[in-house]
Amino acid sequence: MRLTALPAFQDNYIWALQAPDGSTMFVDPGQAQPVLDAATQGMRPAAVLLTHHHDDHVGGVAELRARWPNLAVFAPEDERIHLECERVGEGDRVESAGFTFPVLSVPGHTRSHIAFHGHGHLFCGDTLFSLGCGRMFEGTPAQMLASLRRLAALPAQTRVCCGHEYTLGNAVFARHVDPTNAALHRRQQEAMDMRSRSRPTVPSLLASELECNPFLRTHAEPVRQAIAARLGRAPLDEVEVFAELRRWKDGFRA
Ligand SMILES: [Zn+2]
Repeated sequence: MRLTALPAFQDNYIWALQAPDGSTMFVDPGQAQPVLDAATQGMRPAAVLLTHHHDDHVGGVAELRARWPNLAVFAPEDERIHLECERVGEGDRVESAGFTFPVLSVPGHTRSHIAFHGHGHLFCGDTLFSLGCGRMFEGTPAQMLASLRRLAALPAQTRVCCGHEYTLGNAVFARHVDPTNAALHRRQQEAMDMRSRSRPTVPSLLASELECNPFLRTHAEPVRQAIAARLGRAPLDEVEVFAELRRWKDGFRA
């Protein structure tokens, strides 16, 4: 099994998981061309997995279908995805190319966002990023926090395959919130080094996100204290910590 991050647009990744026989699952092909190119390199498209309806995640599917009419496409229940595809949700399993991926419902970035977890990999679209999380376009803080907690509870050795290369920008904010976190400092240095060599900073290990990502650390004292300083009082609960952290990041300019 081989995992590849195919760059698309400015900072998206299309994830390709290839079985030993060459059949490959592609996650969130917002553009067709990177997949068409990968196919010439021996990746045989067996299935497409979609995490949410945003165009930079689904935009390439129609063109891929034109090229491979029998391509299986799995997508969340959402009328904004105008494709003939198999709709999946919480508790379902996607089976293709010898892979089995249980589906998790993780609303918050969008109301129908799903994630796929299996074979040590998590494909989480725009819910969890390395050192950050997605914007809450359609969900409440309580909903998004619950979704992130579900992902945080997966095995620590899970490889987090997110939808965007946002790690460096996220690191600047995370360091601002949690400046004394040594693991976060190391992760920032590592990510800077990878980007200076034009390499993806993801997948990251969930264990590392648990140590470094402030959005998974709303229970941690340094993060609570940073939020208390902004609020001018102790936060009521973790939902308030998360809500204020997300609001802070939305307005943050490095
Ligand atoms: Zn999105």
